[in-house]
Amino acid sequence: MPTNEYLNRVYEDVKKRDAGQPEFLQAVREVFESLELIAVKHPEWEAGGLLERFVEPERVIVFRIPWVDDGGRVRVNRGYRVQFNSAIGPYKGGIRFHPSVNLSVIKFLGFEQILKNSLTTLPMGGGKGGSDFDPKGKSDAEVMRFCQSFMTELYRHIGQFTDTPAGDIGVGAREIGYMFGTYKKIVNRFDGGVLTGKSLAFGGSLARAQATGYGLCYFAKESLMLQRNESFDGKTVVISGSGNVAQYAAEKCALLGGKGVAMSDSAGFIYDPNGINLEVLMDIKQVRRERIKVYADEVPGSVYSEGCRNIWRVKCDIAMPCASQNEMDEADAGELIKNGCMAVFEGANMPLTPEAIDTVVGSGLLYSPGKASNAGGVATSGLEMTQNSMRLSWTFQEVDDKLHGIMQNIFRACYEASDACGKPGNLMVGANVAGFLKVADAMLAQGIV
Ligand code: NDP
Repeated sequence: MPTNEYLNRVYEDVKKRDAGQPEFLQAVREVFESLELIAVKHPEWEAGGLLERFVEPERVIVFRIPWVDDGGRVRVNRGYRVQFNSAIGPYKGGIRFHPSVNLSVIKFLGFEQILKNSLTTLPMGGGKGGSDFDPKGKSDAEVMRFCQSFMTELYRHIGQFTDTPAGDIGVGAREIGYMFGTYKKIVNRFDGGVLTGKSLAFGGSLARAQATGYGLCYFAKESLMLQRNESFDGKTVVISGSGNVAQYAAEKCALLGGKGVAMSDSAGFIYDPNGINLEVLMDIKQVRRERIKVYADEVPGSVYSEGCRNIWRVKCDIAMPCASQNEMDEADAGELIKNGCMAVFEGANMPLTPEAIDTVVGSGLLYSPGKASNAGGVATSGLEMTQNSMRLSWTFQEVDDKLHGIMQNIFRACYEASDACGKPGNLMVGANVAGFLKVADAMLAQGIV
């Protein structure tokens, strides 16, 4: 609970107004607990009603998505787009398709996105969207019809200078392709920059698919080197999830000398003491779209266990949660610490519960919050938009070099802000403060809007 009187009052109001939104309240509380370290130096925040405005989305759109399944039955899902804050640029943030999606989840993701986008130093505001549609078990044709129906409503709310969505859980290049095709048909314009994460054939950026996972490892590399004089070399790494972020985090880890030994999906996890064979894993996930269990059937020496949370019992030097929110609780964090883990770097958004963060930070492990260490994805989406506007394509190396530089700068900004707040090395405080100050300046300069 924030102790500063102004922050506490605003937080109590949010709690009342958004009572049924636990994930959103969790995200607000974490940020407020960081901001209270500097709030006393900023009386202009209260005078400008800044935090009251900061926690209220500029616009929330909720809509019906009717579609027809392969059996001819009419199905209806619910769609969301939360346009949270446009102080420093057009709203930007992914679209998530997962049965757990609701307003609280989309609001927490949009709120985090404001600070994350600010940290990238690119001109992007914060937003997020999605639906409770579950792509699992659906045919390609069903996914296409769903995406078309989703965009038939969303198109009127987005645009390259308004709001530019991207992918997230359940939304990859296939879904972005179907949505882009529908957008283009409706508006009769090829607005490349309206969606990012596009295929290379129509305006996608090289290295965008890799960007979140690679960026996470670039951030982790800085943290290991500058805070511990260490590196990935020879370290065992446990990576939860086996989607976009997890796969490329595992790949970059290996390139930096680490060994990924465990990965998961929502049903269970695989352990491979020889190091995960990423060629097999990516074929299972990207081409065959099968469950991770199949890996253990195909790779000798590996084992599959039911229950994705048990992955945190696997002994490792570094843990990278890359699946979903609140996937690691206090007990999971305790298991990692007991087994000698030295660092937890978040690839997913808010994967640690507040108690897990306290345990990890309190035990002196390195810890990075997702809004800083997974910002490489949205940063590279920003680079994709730049290439679309310039009508040219950079090479993989050019994009990867820029991503690397951005992640180093984000680490530095977080570290310096943590130091300035009297909490040197607390990257959660640093990320919240550094991300917020820029947005606060922009909001105050633009008046009460
Ligand atoms: P994907 O859909 O590609 O993969 C998600 C992975 O996480 C799958 O292995 C999935 O398993 C697992 N998973 C999803 N929900 C749960 C759950 N409730 N419990 C356990 N496992 C779960 O998504 P991404 O890799 O793109 O995203 C992963 C995380 O990274 C999310 O938090 C996302 O917001 C964040 N992120 C993604 C970015 C990107 O560029 N893609 C950018 C920044 C952050 P299963 O297949 O069984 O569902």
